Amino acid sequence: MYYLSYLILIPGTLLSLWAQNNIKSTYRRYSQVDSQMGMTGADVAKTILSNMGIEDIKVEGVRGELTDHYDPSAKTVRLSSGIYNSSSLAAAAVAAHECGHVLQDKKDYKFMNFRAALVPAANIGSKFAPMIVMIGLFLSAMGQVSFIFINIGIVLFLGVIAFHLITLPVEFDASRRALKLIDELDILQGEENRGAKAVLNAAAWTYVATAFASLLQLLQYLIIANSRRR
Ligand SMILES: [Zn+2]
Repeated sequence: MYYLSYLILIPGTLLSLWAQNNIKSTYRRYSQVDSQMGMTGADVAKTILSNMGIEDIKVEGVRGELTDHYDPSAKTVRLSSGIYNSSSLAAAAVAAHECGHVLQDKKDYKFMNFRAALVPAANIGSKFAPMIVMIGLFLSAMGQVSFIFINIGIVLFLGVIAFHLITLPVEFDASRRALKLIDELDILQGEENRGAKAVLNAAAWTYVATAFASLLQLLQYLIIANSRRR
């Protein structure tokens, strides 16, 4: 009956689909609204960094859409071409958000370090946990053996859960810093700030959805492990 346990994943899948759709439409909407100041994403990032007295971080372009990120090891903020060269509200929001991560790095924000430390565990867990649980299921005719496999899968998956949960405060904090900075530095004016906030909120929901889906995945594994026990 373990296949019924897959039903528990449905709310996570639905929330993820909604969040993906929501970020796409919100991003598209505010990509079409230019700010009064007319600063490009690259300008926004450089303005924030220089205002914060940060001089050792490069700002460069990167291929793809919504591939924007801060690379702490290369000390580089990479902005996708749609952000780098655009003077839209979405571009300002995303560029400022990545600078929020730079500030976290500079201020030794503990959740960010914690998250970086969890990357290897999360990679191993997401790669092997589902496979090991599957092997456990296939071996279920062999009793105890399958039970061990499923439990190993669950333990490995805890690394994935920890990573997605710790990602939440890191992302929320970067967005909070970003919105404060674009307002204080007059990068955006009045109502424009709401557009930036909408973009960053939509992005935050994708992280919430991922964390929620991974928690349901864990719950499914626990249900499988329990049904094996009987
Ligand atoms: Zn981020």
